[in-house]
Formats: sequence, C-alpha cells, structure tokens
Amino acid sequence: MLFTFSRTLLAATLAMSFAVPAYSAEPHKQIQTGAEQYKAPALKLLERLVNIDSGSGYEPGLTQVRDIAVEELKQLGFSIELVPDKAANNSHVIATLKGTGKAKILLMAHMDTVFKEGSAAERPFHIKDGRAYGPGVMDDKGGIVAGIYALKVLKDQGFKDYAQITFLLDASEETGSDAASELIRTTAKGHDVTLNLEPGRPADGLVVWRKGSATAVVEVKGKAAHAGVAPELGRNAAMEGRIRSCNWANWATKRRKPPSTSPCSRPATASTSSPTRRRPRRTYARHCRKSLTGSRRTWPVFRRIS
Ligand SMILES: [Zn+2]
Repeated sequence: MLFTFSRTLLAATLAMSFAVPAYSAEPHKQIQTGAEQYKAPALKLLERLVNIDSGSGYEPGLTQVRDIAVEELKQLGFSIELVPDKAANNSHVIATLKGTGKAKILLMAHMDTVFKEGSAAERPFHIKDGRAYGPGVMDDKGGIVAGIYALKVLKDQGFKDYAQITFLLDASEETGSDAASELIRTTAKGHDVTLNLEPGRPADGLVVWRKGSATAVVEVKGKAAHAGVAPELGRNAAMEGRIRSCNWANWATKRRKPPSTSPCSRPATASTSSPTRRRPRRTYARHCRKSLTGSRRTWPVFRRIS
C-alpha cells in the first residue's frame, strides 16, 4: 500500500514534474497535466534559486534560498521548524504536513551547492536547446523545485492519503552533511519511506540504491629537520601525506576507466582534502596539497582503508 502510493503517485509526480517522457510507468493523466501546467512557474522558481549563490557555508545565499523554499512550503500548508547548525553557518529546515492516511513520507533535498560566491553572476540560469544550466541547477535546486511542485500538483488533486509528509532541507550536504547526519538519521527513522530528491539518471527513473559516503582522517607524523642542511635526519610528513593521498585516489581509480592523468587528478569517487578547510569535500582541488582527509563513497573500500 505504502509502496504503491510512493511509486505510483508521489514518485510519478516527482518524475513528471518536468515532464520528461522516458519514465517507464504509465503516466497518471491528471498528474501529468498538473505538472505540465506548472512548468513555467517551476522554471521561474528554479531560475530564482539558481541565481542565488549558496555554496556550503555561505550564509547570505543559504538564507535566501532557505527563505524562498520555506515560503513556498508555508503556502502549501507545511509547518516549519528551523534547526540551526553552526557548522553549516545556517539552519536546516524540517517542514511537516499532516494528511488523513497512514504512511509517513520523507522528502529530502539540500540547499547548498559546491559553487563559490560569484558563480551565479558568472554563469546565470539559462535554457539552451531545452536544457537548463547554471550553478546547482540540477544538484540540488532542481530537487527542491521538483519536490515543491510535486506537492503543489498533489494538493491540487486534493490528495491527502498520507499521515505525514516531511520535507527536510539540508544546508550542508556538499560538505558531507556532517552536522545534519544525525538529524537525517532520526528524522528518517520516524518515516516509512524516504525520497531523496537528488538528480537521478538521464532516463529519469527512480534511483533506488546509491553509494554510501564516509570520511577517514589520516594523520601523518614525521620528523622535523632542515631540508637543505640535514635532510637525512628528517621525515617529511607533508610529503608522505600527499603521497598517501595520491596513492589512495590512484588505487580507488582502478575500478574506473583507465586514466591518462596523474593519480591526483584522476576521476574517482574518492577525494582528499584538509579537515580544516571549508571546501566541499566532494570537489577536487586545483592543486594536490598536503591533504590529510579523504572520503571514499563505497563502503567496502572505506573499510579497507580504515
Ligand atoms: Zn546533491
């Protein structure tokens, strides 16, 4: 019953929010019509959100994005709770809507992006050949918009067959959701099903399984010495840290396509960064510096390095 609900109505609504025809389930006519009617305002909202810089930790932009989303959710009848988070330099949002049915559904999206301030001005939202472009347009502002408009379509249908729909907006996903992890864990436990509104695959199906994410902190202890006068007395921790990071990224890359570049820049779902830096961990640095933090997004690999 719950599965049927999530697959055929809410999921279909989400999948059809932008009316991509490749979705394999039979289209629900009313939902499809509703979604098509909302295409213009949905794109307008997407444009507004994309044109606001909201890189992880950038308080002014995150606040703007949060306020816009909260306003939309309030209009849909949601009750809003803000959960302040110093590490995110902002608040996460827990919005709840009560229905008359049995299932508790959690929708999740995130407000932060991997893009620094100025990105939106540099390459603002635009549509070319039927595709929308701009910083965070897909990941995850498109997710926020898809969720909001799916809910609008359902509201228009008078659909209330759920006990509760919760919309959780994370302000720190691109830094690994460190502070939000516990909030997500406890919130998800109180629900029957979770739909994470991250970008899926080009065919627009539902992704039902993804990699995990984890971070290991690698500390390297060396021996201080003067590199010019007595290098043989020292052990350079920075160099060792860099080599180990690169070896790790190199090793993690082996399951991917054969690389033609150096280990530090190869395409792997492993990345390294310094624990003290704010740069989103899932982005690559321009330079391979002494990197002591690593993240690897598949559990078996993470277990091997930890
Ligand atoms: Zn994302």
